[in-house]
Amino acid sequence: MKLLTFKYKNEEKIGVLSEGGSSVKTIEGFRDMNDFIDKGGKAEVFGEEIPFGEIQLLAPIPFPKQDAICLGINYMAHAEESARYKKEAFGGERPYPVYFSKRVDEAVGSGMPIPSHRDVTDTLDYEVELAVIIGKTARNVPEGKALDYIFGYTIINDVSARNLQTRHQQWYFGKSLDGALPMGPVIVTADEIAYPPELNIKSYVNGELRQNSNTRNMIASVEQVIVELSSGMTLKPGTVIAMGTPAGVGMGFQPPKFLKSGDVVECEIEGIGVLKNRVE
Ligand code: MG
Repeated sequence: MKLLTFKYKNEEKIGVLSEGGSSVKTIEGFRDMNDFIDKGGKAEVFGEEIPFGEIQLLAPIPFPKQDAICLGINYMAHAEESARYKKEAFGGERPYPVYFSKRVDEAVGSGMPIPSHRDVTDTLDYEVELAVIIGKTARNVPEGKALDYIFGYTIINDVSARNLQTRHQQWYFGKSLDGALPMGPVIVTADEIAYPPELNIKSYVNGELRQNSNTRNMIASVEQVIVELSSGMTLKPGTVIAMGTPAGVGMGFQPPKFLKSGDVVECEIEGIGVLKNRVE
C-alpha cells in the first residue's frame, strides 16, 4: 500500500493511493497515521474515493511522536564531501554509524514550502534520504529479524542550516529549524519493497540533478541500525529513522550551492515517489 495523509474539504484524513495514483481511498476508523500504525496498520474499512487532484497532501506523519532519528555520515562519497567542506582530514574508517536527533514540530508534506530562515542562515542545504518507519515496539531485535519491525518507507529531506550545524558543537539546532523535515509523498508499506532496499535515490534543485546514488551504497544497513539501536533503546511504532544522504548536497560543490528563496527541491526514491518542495 501507498499510504498518505491529506486534507480534503478542510479535514485531515488518511488514505491509500490507487494503483496509478489518480485517486485516494480514505481509511476510516483511525485518528491519524500514528494511530493507524499503533493499531497494527491494517486498512479494513474504506470511505470515499477522492480524485488525487482534489486533495492537499500533508506529510504522511505530520506530527511524529518523537524527534526523527538520523544517521549522519552513511554514504562514503558524502563522508568525503562533508570532510572537504569542514576541512577535516577524512579517515575513511566508519566502523559505527553517527546518530543524531532532528527535532520536528510539524513535518512538511510534498508541495508545501520549506521556510528559508534567512534571519538565521545563509547556508540552507538539502539532503535526500530513505526513511524507515518502525511498525511495532522494537527492543533487542535479533540479527535477521529487523524486517519484522519495519512498517514502511518514505522519503525525507534532511534540510540543514550548515552555519548552525558547524558553529555549535552538536548538529541539533542546525538540523531542527521549523519546516526542516519535508516527508513524503507517501509511506510505502514494507511488503512492497524487496528487503534489503536497493533503490535509486536522487535529488534535483530547479531540475538540475544533484544527488544520484542507490540505497545499497549505505554504509550501515537498515538491519544493522535497527538491531543496534534497539539493543538499548526502545523504538516505538511510528519512529522515523532517516538513513543518511548520498553525495551531491549543496556544501559538496566548489563553490557550494546552497538553497535560495524560490528554489524547487525534488527528492526522489525509486518505488516511493517524488517529494517536491519550494523554498519560501
Ligand atoms: Mg542527513
